[in-house]
This record gives sequence, C-alpha cells and structure tokens, in this order.
Amino acid sequence: MIDKEKIRQAIRLFLEGIGEDPDREGLRETPDRIARMWEEFESMRSFDMKLFEEFGDYNEMVLVKDIKFYSLCEHHLLPFFGQVHIAYIPDGVICGLSKLVRTVRAFSLRPQVQERLTEEIADFLDKELKPKGVGVVVEAEHLCMSMRGAMSPGHITTTSALRGVFLKDMKTREEFLKLIKGV
Ligand SMILES: [Zn+2]
Repeated sequence: MIDKEKIRQAIRLFLEGIGEDPDREGLRETPDRIARMWEEFESMRSFDMKLFEEFGDYNEMVLVKDIKFYSLCEHHLLPFFGQVHIAYIPDGVICGLSKLVRTVRAFSLRPQVQERLTEEIADFLDKELKPKGVGVVVEAEHLCMSMRGAMSPGHITTTSALRGVFLKDMKTREEFLKLIKGV
C-alpha cells in the first residue's frame, strides 16, 4: 500500500536536504505530486490475469517486439527505459498484445533492476501461460549511467531470460534471436 503522507514528508525533507526551499512556488506542490504519482503507479501495476485465453492448436512461436517500458533503477531511483521483446511457444493458451504490455508494466513500475525485471516477466508468463517455452529480451538505457558516474549517454544494456524449449532447444533460441534482430 502507498502511504502518501510518508512520501510527502520524505520528499519535503529530501528537498531541504539538497538545499532547496520546499515552500517556494515551483516546489510547493511537488511532495503531493510525487505521492499521487506513486499512487498512480500502484494502480497501473495490477491487472486481471484471467484475461489469458484458451486457443486451439497454434504451435508456432508468437513474438511481440518493441514493447516500450519505463522503470526506475532501485539504486538511484532514476529512470531506465527501452523495449522488451517477448516470444513464447504456446501450449493451448495464448494472450493478446495488451496483456503482454500490462505484464511488462506490472513489473516495471516499481524500483527495479533490469536483470530482475527480465526474469520476473519470463517467470510470470511461464506460470500463467504454461507455454512450451518463453524468451524475454530487455534493451534499456539507464539514466543513472547517462547522467552521472560513467556518463555514458545512449549506452544500451541488454538482458535476457529463457525458459523451457528456449533454454533446451538451440534452434528455437536461434530463431528467437534472429527474429529480434530483424527490428
Ligand atoms: Zn542506477
């Protein structure tokens, strides 16, 4: 649960901590805006898992490329963002694009690390769709790398998580990676 009062107090203190006056005009509403933003994130995270549909005998790979996402690195609370590519080989159940988009959103709108985001999406789809296999690739730019530290703007970090036949069968894995590269 989101504790908006706690967030408001914390942001006010944070602003004081960086030498700002939290009562000046531009900042006065900021603690409340941030509290409401996190409440919105929380409401966007939940979705109805029953939306996955039974679907006949389709046995070929389903691939959805370039699902845009925005997340926050848990080390700096700065955004990292990019795209997720998801493929799976169904075993009687498929789902529409909007459910995949919501799955990505559910795991990205929280303090995250890219590796865990990738694994959580793969594990969730593996559990809900029970496919023959699933593959997830995430490509992202991290503002904590672009704005500070290494100062490496535009640098893209790629992570992947493979389950089932994507892990066991080299041909499936190669097909998946080839299809992604055809962006
Ligand atoms: Zn970071």
